[in-house]
Amino acid sequence: MIYLNGKFMPIEEAFIPVLDRGFIFGDGVYEVIPVYSRKPFRLAEHLIRLQHSLDGIRLKNPCSNDEWRNILEQIIANNDGEDQYLYLHITRGVAKRDHAFPANVSPTVFIMSNPLPQPPEELLKTGASAITANDNRWIRCDVKAISLLPNVLLRQLAVDRHALETILIRNQFLTEGAASNIFIVKDKVLLAPPKSNLMLPGITYDVVLELAAANQIPHEIREISETETRMADEILLTSSTKEIMPITLLDNHPVGDGKPGELFRQLHALYQEYKATHMRG
Ligand code: PMP
Repeated sequence: MIYLNGKFMPIEEAFIPVLDRGFIFGDGVYEVIPVYSRKPFRLAEHLIRLQHSLDGIRLKNPCSNDEWRNILEQIIANNDGEDQYLYLHITRGVAKRDHAFPANVSPTVFIMSNPLPQPPEELLKTGASAITANDNRWIRCDVKAISLLPNVLLRQLAVDRHALETILIRNQFLTEGAASNIFIVKDKVLLAPPKSNLMLPGITYDVVLELAAANQIPHEIREISETETRMADEILLTSSTKEIMPITLLDNHPVGDGKPGELFRQLHALYQEYKATHMRG
């Protein structure tokens, strides 16, 4: 079952008009929320980020947080699987094609749930490969906009080269991945690029920094240069659906000794423990 504009229905029965501004302009925002043991993970944080994205495109939030919680609960209950991921999509609605905001139009709200794929065991053991590319996206990457054409093209560069992700560099500094946040490790210190308009403030990014702080793992939030990225001892990728993954090959060069490193192992274990607490709680 999916949710579309106040109604629950099978996805085959869900349609939107061609004049939806999401279709015409990519005028909307979205969220992806993992669900473990039928409980949405870090939901409060996802709803705060959703509000930030809506503010960023000057669209009024169509639901209160209680209303969102209620709708998401019903979606989770109506879909199979203990572990799911929710995709929540809001556009500025349906109107005659004109760039300017339409008056008196209701937003389109679409939510679906899909089974949450387990991060592949093999990649956790050996690590994944990534490539780098110039970050040519707009400069409001803190808004989770549905207009993802630059991300799509950048990610496809990785697929074309049989890599997992494209790591983005803007003006010689690391920003993030095409669909993930990126950390590096140098001399046993976890380094994270600071949140800014040039990256999405990842929910998993926050969890990783909280776990580092709570477990006396040395960490620093600061700008990371392209050279530092290439010379890193470890590179870690985070996202809600991929959790934490080690990147062991960058542009076909081994990262550090080419194997998943100690900080990856430590943070991955802490993340699993944190998820388990969430499931019990
Ligand atoms: N950056 C971008 C561009 C993304 O698409 C994602 C995935 N949603 C992330 C970072 C990671 O964010 P999160 O940890 O909230 O999934």
